[in-house]
Amino acid sequence: MTKISNNLEEINKKIENAKQKANVTQDVKIIAVTKQVSTERTIEALETGLVHLGENRPEGLLSKKEVIQTKAKWHYIGSLQTRKVKQVINELDYLHSLDRMSLAEEIEKRAEQTVNCFVQANVSGEESKHGLSKEQVIPFIQSLHEFKKIRIVGLMTMAPNTEDEATIRKVFRDLKQLQQEVVALELPYAPCNELSMGMSNDYVIAVEEGATFVRIGTALVG
Ligand SMILES: *Cc1c(COP(=O)(O)O)cnc(C)c1O
Repeated sequence: MTKISNNLEEINKKIENAKQKANVTQDVKIIAVTKQVSTERTIEALETGLVHLGENRPEGLLSKKEVIQTKAKWHYIGSLQTRKVKQVINELDYLHSLDRMSLAEEIEKRAEQTVNCFVQANVSGEESKHGLSKEQVIPFIQSLHEFKKIRIVGLMTMAPNTEDEATIRKVFRDLKQLQQEVVALELPYAPCNELSMGMSNDYVIAVEEGATFVRIGTALVG
């Protein structure tokens, strides 16, 4: 395994280059996706100065959180089963996978304070992917107005599994467009300033298209 600090240096360079190339200036935060690595490796990530960690199972998040003393921000990036909400909802800082009303209702019931949520969109329409269709995102967000525990901080998507850069770029661009439409609604519970998009294989494109959170596993800690 390569040193995380070396990987991070490389990734930071690529992010800087991407911002210059695309002439964008947003602050890009890196989420170290630690779902496939040990607690020791996760601690190594935190020691490089990374603060955002991404997990996709309640067990992974809870077992790591129990031992890790360092201050970290915990991102839940996987699809979350309704019956598991009570296990994790008060342990995470961001939920990236809000994609249905039944999940919102369970969060409202179980959360002890406001939860920062990303609405997950399936922009590409791939059947294998979770998330709302582009058309469903805005009506869904509007329907959350009476939920006191839910704050929509942004939108999240996963690009399709393809080598075709233009296809990936279009997905990210569409998400950004959708995000700006949500911002324009000026809903007090949905500032929607963040864009969670880009993984190991496509974060450079995501940054060029406006990502504010990139979720990197393999290329960083793998
Ligand atoms: C695993 C995962 C990632 C990280 O994937 P890599 O290709 O390893 O960077 C990002 N986002 C989600 C939702 C994931 O499940």
